[in-house]
Amino acid sequence: MAKPSILIVGAGPVGLTAALELQRRGFSPSIIDQKQGPVVESRALAVNPRSLAILTPSGLAERFIAAGKKIQRVYLRGSDRLLLTVKMESLPGPHNFMLVLPQDQSEALLAQAVNERGLEIAWGHKLTDLHRDGETVTAVIQDPDGGVSEQHPDLVIGADGAHSTVRRAIGQDFKGSAYDENFGLVDGEVATDLPLDGLNVFDRSPRLFAMFPIRDRRVRLISDHEDFMDHLPPEIRITEVHWQSPFRISHRLVDSYQDGPVFLVGDAAHIHSPLGGRGMNLGMEDAAWLAWLIAEGRTEGFTAARRPVAEHLIKTVDPATRFMASDKWGHRLLRRHVLPLIGALPFVQERLLPNVTASNTPFPPWLENGG
Ligand SMILES: Cc1cc2nc3c(=O)[nH]c(=O)nc-3n(C[C@H](O)[C@H](O)[C@H](O)COP(=O)(O)OP(=O)(O)OC[C@H]3O[C@@H](n4cnc5c(N)ncnc54)[C@H](O)[C@@H]3O)c2cc1C
Repeated sequence: MAKPSILIVGAGPVGLTAALELQRRGFSPSIIDQKQGPVVESRALAVNPRSLAILTPSGLAERFIAAGKKIQRVYLRGSDRLLLTVKMESLPGPHNFMLVLPQDQSEALLAQAVNERGLEIAWGHKLTDLHRDGETVTAVIQDPDGGVSEQHPDLVIGADGAHSTVRRAIGQDFKGSAYDENFGLVDGEVATDLPLDGLNVFDRSPRLFAMFPIRDRRVRLISDHEDFMDHLPPEIRITEVHWQSPFRISHRLVDSYQDGPVFLVGDAAHIHSPLGGRGMNLGMEDAAWLAWLIAEGRTEGFTAARRPVAEHLIKTVDPATRFMASDKWGHRLLRRHVLPLIGALPFVQERLLPNVTASNTPFPPWLENGG
């Protein structure tokens, strides 16, 4: 039987993962993106063990690991002492670490891999409209010169991010809400004596800071306040800023990831707090599941397979983010005196870590027998 024609809208990390996973299953999707090329910002940094497992059969995990930095520790620091160390060394499986790889590099590696398998990404091509007449889909696409053409793919994968045109076209509300305050993000070079082998979190009310090592002395700082550079913990000094951006946290989720032959994956379907580093990873997992279900001819199970995972994540990270960023007296007390005691217990770490590594989500069935 002929393979269906598939249009992927969006060549971010999620659309590219969909393309790669479809290619290795014998499909020849096309992929468009309104941008002129891959992102240049570092954006999502953390690639978790589940994503590495998913990228292993295509050979991409090896390339990611060669390009990134492995971290196995999270240090929670109070104003005068180290409160807690979370260790990942004891995680089962070959990927007992989080991989730090800036999004511009992960996208470039994904784009290179799909190119090598013979797929040309149509940069500068924007989906302007999508409509359905029964099972016939019409995608209206504007090319870089302003010309407009129509395509009639059998399947459409909407990987077009938080402001998804595909989501709007299929009438899915993006239900949820945004936090009132902006958070802040800086990538730069750091001078510090602190270990850069893990994530350092500084609980310095009224500000919370997280510092990810990227490579050498380069770090990512995130704070729950936009204006944090004048209030850095005394143990760190930023000597050069490479990128700075405020961002707003929202928690939003669609009711359905599918309308007939049209699917939503990644940020087009769900967005949430960066706590735990799951955003991009969850989307890459969606993409891989969808590719598998398409190959199995069982796409009607897509929403049931993936929506509960995002719903559970939002239910977990929303209160956790509010608790960590809260300046209420009682929450500060809990963070400084109770969390270090409870968090140090091995069985508590065993319960916390799966929220970061994604091992608390259904294991991809196709990986049970190697891919
Ligand atoms: C400042 C910042 C920091 C972040 N930090 C983290 C982090 O630390 N950890 C984490 O997990 N996540 C982080 N994220 C979120 C992470 O970047 C996203 O979760 C991830 O990029 C989602 O991937 P995606 O492919 O679903 O969507 P996107 O990366 O948004 O890609 C969507 C693509 O679709 C294209 N597109 C959109 N509309 C159209 C259209 N009509 N036609 C054609 N193409 C279209 C866009 O050009 C884009 O390339 C951060 C995001 C930002 C902005």
